[in-house]
Amino acid sequence: MLLRLRAILDTDGLTDGLRTSHLGRATYRRDASFLNADPLAVALPRTVEQTAEVLRACRDHGIPITPRAAGTGLAGGATPTGEAGARPVVVSVARMDQLRELDVANRRAWVEPGLVNARLGRAAAAHGLRFAPDPASQIAATLGGNVATNAGGIHVLTYGVMSQHVLAVELMDLDGEVHLLDGRAPEQGGLDLRAVSVGGEGTLGIVVGACLRLLPAPPATGTLLAGFPSLDAAAATVGALVTSDRLPDAVELMDARAIELVEGYAQAGYPQDAAAVLLLEYEGLPAGVDAGAATAERLASEHGATSVVRAADSDQRARIWKGRKAVAGAIAKQAPDFYLQDVVVPRSRLGEMLDTVVTIGERERLTILNVVHAGDGNLHPFILFDRREPDVLDRVFAAGHDIVETALRLDGTVTGEHGVGIEKRDFLGQVFDADSLAVQQAVRDAIEPTRLANPDKVLPTTVGCGEARMVPEGAWV
Ligand SMILES: Cc1cc2nc3c(=O)[nH]c(=O)nc-3n(C[C@H](O)[C@H](O)[C@H](O)COP(=O)(O)OP(=O)(O)OC[C@H]3O[C@@H](n4cnc5c(N)ncnc54)[C@H](O)[C@@H]3O)c2cc1C
Repeated sequence: MLLRLRAILDTDGLTDGLRTSHLGRATYRRDASFLNADPLAVALPRTVEQTAEVLRACRDHGIPITPRAAGTGLAGGATPTGEAGARPVVVSVARMDQLRELDVANRRAWVEPGLVNARLGRAAAAHGLRFAPDPASQIAATLGGNVATNAGGIHVLTYGVMSQHVLAVELMDLDGEVHLLDGRAPEQGGLDLRAVSVGGEGTLGIVVGACLRLLPAPPATGTLLAGFPSLDAAAATVGALVTSDRLPDAVELMDARAIELVEGYAQAGYPQDAAAVLLLEYEGLPAGVDAGAATAERLASEHGATSVVRAADSDQRARIWKGRKAVAGAIAKQAPDFYLQDVVVPRSRLGEMLDTVVTIGERERLTILNVVHAGDGNLHPFILFDRREPDVLDRVFAAGHDIVETALRLDGTVTGEHGVGIEKRDFLGQVFDADSLAVQQAVRDAIEPTRLANPDKVLPTTVGCGEARMVPEGAWV
């Protein structure tokens, strides 16, 4: 099997298309979560043809595959778990990273799966266009990974998640056949298999290409930073903003711990005495942006804001967003490990949810800081820890578990944008009933009947049991 893979991948005389050594596999044991496992080997194809041959070889030997791109996923989706039997081969698409076509006339782009999100953004900007999905990881995460996880981002509130921007997907099955799941026409007719494939997290095959929607860049942008004396005041302002007649395009919330950490790292100009800040953005024609900003200033003041600043120029705007996007970097300087949660609650329950996260952190003696895509009720509590501390992992998992249970109790759900992977898999029994999970399994089997593509991800192994657990680190090591 490995000899066959080497013959497929090392055709150019270089010997780095297949990694089998302990060191070569080590980098691919985990994604950005800390769930890790040892793969059989790592395949790094450069072309669609090589990918097809790799998949056929794995199929012939009954070896599962774990698709992987940049590895920034946070739910263990690209972690090569071997629960289903044999250890999987990681198939990385990172080397297939070309922008195949920028079709300005039709405002769309054909991309290879390993193209980094921000690179498409820069290419589109040169033509007065934009690619709207902007995950905070966009300088590293790939578009194939974004398709596979149905990624969100800072501007989800008005632009929606990735699936709204994917016009067609080229999906490769385990026979190496590529299927064009096309949604380029506004009303295609038939079942929308393109939509089914977005968010498949590698369980339906490998995305080897995609056609993505581009939008005109907005003529004007207004960015505001507002400081609040309490989390509740900031959360109440979010409610007022999204029900006002000027819906912002982005509403991000950060708590006092996040502010302190980020200021020490990125000097973004956030108010140090605030218990929470809101980062707000309005886009569109200048008059509409000004009206939005005026509404935001008024509503923030009515809810007790201690400061409201509107960015005077693009430098100040970039500085405000730099703080938000630097959170993970700032944490890395502060704590050896973090566990980043991802849950959603109805916006009206945001204050209650945030209060409970604080209580959970105190109970488990853990530092938890909150960064929230507040406009759509998507919370990202970062749990900071040092795994060398005795019993800390038990407390981290207990906190993570309770955060998810709290979101479910408040009528929310278990993931907003990071996906299910293995981390949230066994919670799905609480989100969907047994019939719904059985239908999802049947759809998955119809598209990927070999069950070799990321087999133990997303759907619970005990479908419908309704019992949830967090996955301890090292379970598959
Ligand atoms: C600091 C930080 C901030 C983040 N912010 C956001 C955010 O704002 N919004 C958001 O949505 N996510 C965010 N994420 C999570 C992550 O960046 C996204 O899930 C991203 O879409 C993953 O892309 P990737 O290229 O890293 O994929 P990987 O991590 O390599 O893979 C992710 C999943 O997709 C599958 N996969 C990857 N490529 C393919 C392919 N070509 N075909 C089939 N399956 C494939 C993998 O098997 C895995 O299940 C963040 C992560 C970090 C570390």
